[in-house]
Amino acid sequence: MNSVQYNTPLMIKAIKAFDDNYIWCVHSNNANYVAIVDPGDAEVCIQYIESNSLQLSAIFITHRHSDHVGGVEKLVSFCQSKGWPLNVYGPTKEATQYSKIKVKEDDIIQDELFNIQVNVIDIPGHTLGHIGYLIEDNLFCGDTLFSAGCGRIFDGTSEQLFESLNKISTLPEKTQVYCAHEYTMANLAFSLTVDPTNEELINYYNYVKTLREKNQSSIPTSICIENKINPFLRCFDHNIKQSVDTYSHVESTTDLDTFTQLRRWKNEF
Ligand SMILES: [Zn+2]
Repeated sequence: MNSVQYNTPLMIKAIKAFDDNYIWCVHSNNANYVAIVDPGDAEVCIQYIESNSLQLSAIFITHRHSDHVGGVEKLVSFCQSKGWPLNVYGPTKEATQYSKIKVKEDDIIQDELFNIQVNVIDIPGHTLGHIGYLIEDNLFCGDTLFSAGCGRIFDGTSEQLFESLNKISTLPEKTQVYCAHEYTMANLAFSLTVDPTNEELINYYNYVKTLREKNQSSIPTSICIENKINPFLRCFDHNIKQSVDTYSHVESTTDLDTFTQLRRWKNEF
């Protein structure tokens, strides 16, 4: 089945969970079908689905952490009780008990009910098997890239995360980035410490501060914004290299060295 191209942008809504998680609900253009990305908590999803008279037809899992998969089993039972067909997609390399359909780099998902083409990319580093989903110009990247920051390294390596972030940064600039946490203000505080003279970053800090004071979300962000303000995507930058070297007392020779020390600095910040 070929995916259908629509002129209207996709409707994507945040379902808030726990302290600062965003569970993303993508509305299909096919009737009232929706897909949910990383349902860590089933209750908030069921509430959203029922209060908006929607039908859940697909779940997309980015990685195995419980705040991303904790609600999957309950949502599967919920859909069974309703008689709704549900496809659960997840990474080939982890969280495999949650998903019937395992996906990896270059896979294209053409879900029958959700009816919008989804492209899969491998973005390991936060965890070894972490994947992302591209739906039109929207990237669902879990805990790999955050606005003005990036995920911690659990079982992946610094090199993997560095490569994954490089891969994300080369997506078209208009790509909207839907990460899984509202960490932006804390990340911006760190970014300003690393890159204090970056005018774009200073302006963005002031913009997000105002948003957050009004309790508005800073997500989605975009590749265009992140390439200008996110130090983890800018390890080639002379000022950032200098800050990192001063902090670590090590002269970094490669951008990967800079990234590795920068990630360590953030852990200690
Ligand atoms: Zn995680």
